[in-house]
Amino acid sequence: MEQPEIKVNHIETKSVMTKSNTPIGGYSVNPYVGCPHACKYCYASFMKRFTGHTEEWGTFMDVKDWPEIKNPKKYAGQKVIIGTVTDGYNPLEETYKNTRRLLEELKDSGADILICTKSDLVLRDLDLLKEINENSRLTVSWSINTLDEEFKDDMDAAVSIERRLAAMKEVYAAGIRTICFISPVFPGITDIEAIIDRTKDQCDLVWLENLNLRGGFKADIMKYISTIVDYFYHEEVRGTANSGKRNVIHNP
Ligand code: SF4
Repeated sequence: MEQPEIKVNHIETKSVMTKSNTPIGGYSVNPYVGCPHACKYCYASFMKRFTGHTEEWGTFMDVKDWPEIKNPKKYAGQKVIIGTVTDGYNPLEETYKNTRRLLEELKDSGADILICTKSDLVLRDLDLLKEINENSRLTVSWSINTLDEEFKDDMDAAVSIERRLAAMKEVYAAGIRTICFISPVFPGITDIEAIIDRTKDQCDLVWLENLNLRGGFKADIMKYISTIVDYFYHEEVRGTANSGKRNVIHNP
């Protein structure tokens, strides 16, 4: 997928730290509104409703400006998840450095920080991540739900799977806890075994997440699944399918 053209706005927020209402608790932290990765299965697109955006998901980004976190120790021991409805290491981070700023402000907090990404831009901040890892618990998670770059390109505009894997390897080698997040799992299509096999020596944990078919989003995602099935079927017919692709034929 081509990187869509992004309309950038700057917004001021009272705080970047949002209390999470998930069962995990803690805080959800999103230094941006919107996400240029534009994943076709993204359920974070519901954010448009709350932020007044009418543009297509993936074509806008609000760069947040927040007052400095004055008392980071307040978050000691708390879960802080960076990137629940955006990717803090999206390509615009290269310019705006909001995620880096956030990490610098939380550096000595003692929080239990989880960074969720589909990028290798995280490597830019490796020195900072190592420093944080000395005083806080830090984990970096990469979403990988296929090893097939063509299929990935159809699903999202983020960096290649190979670049994600290379970043995971380097962060893991730096002694930072890493997660291979197989998300979302397309039943009968996602080759979980192959992904685990490829990542098992460079991550501490493998997480799996079901496909989210909530509410009004279900019709869109089902439509997308029908195109995927078509893609895998035609690849199989051409005899070029990899093992992941065959799954859809054998488990229809
Ligand atoms: S990276 Fe996450 S937030 Fe961004 S578009 Fe993809 S699924 Fe949505």
